[in-house]
Amino acid sequence: MEIYKAYKFRLYPTDDQKILINKTLGCKRFVYNYYLNYLKDNNGKTKFNLHKDLPKLKEENQFLKEVDSTVLCSAVDDLCKAFNDYYAKRRGYPKFKNRFSKQSYRTTCIRRSTHKGSEYSNIEIDLLTRNIKLPKLGKVKIRGYRSKDRIEGKILNATISREPTNKYYVSVVVVEGILIEKVTPTSIVGIDLGIKDLVVTSDGVKYVNEKIISKYEKRLKRLQRKLSRQVKTSKNYLKTKERIARIHAKIRNYRKHYLNYIANEIVNDHDIIVTENLKVKDMFKKKIKAFNKNLADASFSKLCSLIEWKSKIKCKFYYKIDTYYPSSQICSTCGYKNEELKDLSIREYNCPKCGVYNDRDINASLNILLEGLKIHYSLVSLV
Ligand SMILES: [Zn+2]
Repeated sequence: MEIYKAYKFRLYPTDDQKILINKTLGCKRFVYNYYLNYLKDNNGKTKFNLHKDLPKLKEENQFLKEVDSTVLCSAVDDLCKAFNDYYAKRRGYPKFKNRFSKQSYRTTCIRRSTHKGSEYSNIEIDLLTRNIKLPKLGKVKIRGYRSKDRIEGKILNATISREPTNKYYVSVVVVEGILIEKVTPTSIVGIDLGIKDLVVTSDGVKYVNEKIISKYEKRLKRLQRKLSRQVKTSKNYLKTKERIARIHAKIRNYRKHYLNYIANEIVNDHDIIVTENLKVKDMFKKKIKAFNKNLADASFSKLCSLIEWKSKIKCKFYYKIDTYYPSSQICSTCGYKNEELKDLSIREYNCPKCGVYNDRDINASLNILLEGLKIHYSLVSLV
């Protein structure tokens, strides 16, 4: 089976390379907006192929010839996709791109055999010297994936981006062949997701929801108040805006790192992983601060997709159980359903029927494990 993997590195371009990146971003925007304008006038319908028109546009606007030509093709592809999504009612009408949103461009990897018999490729990653070769830019310094010394798989494309914090990144997509034979499972884990503890496993391991986020939240609020008092377009306004963008990026990076860490530990240690299908968790209906709620929602779905993905590439089993299964009300030892436990303030209790001591979250994760085991055996017995 072939899978696609993306590796994202921080890029450290020289000043000249920065100029070229920004020029490329500008050209991509120009092509995108030019054809969007054209299609707008023609109700999104065109008699000619945009790709075939591109050379003419380049002739008329010589500066387009200075940048990587595959980027301009991908701008046309993006626009076509935006219109397809619009007609399929997946998205709204395509919008013009401006200088202020997040900027990125995609360049395609071109590979060919040279007459000497060696393989030539316009995108190459060298993790020993920490460099990436990119079309037109040449070698650019990168950082990331400290423990890796090479990247397996064939490079398909690279996306170069500039964040509002003025940091540059490159995300490289590779295609890799992997085994599809599933492991013979020897361990299973159930996972309960929550607000106080982000994750509680049936092994009794708890991953807390880090307080660091609320520390940043305070700083963010202060800066946003400051921003509202400043004159728009003033130098200080832009400065504050960049500081806000930097904090948002910090929170994002931190959360990404933490969720990956949790997912890695869980998938490395277990062969069958079970979570809830978390569309509606009863606790979400209760009063939780909007900020925390949004963050939790996002963390949960991100974590589950990470676990799903990591179990797939490691050939392990991942199951989601029914959302409406009352995992926290049933005693995992005797199966007694205790309605009183709808009260979320009860964190631990002794089961009224069998008397066993239960920690609310660990008990819930054990129930999730048991439900997952049922699914696993029902699927395995079919084979
Ligand atoms: Zn019991």
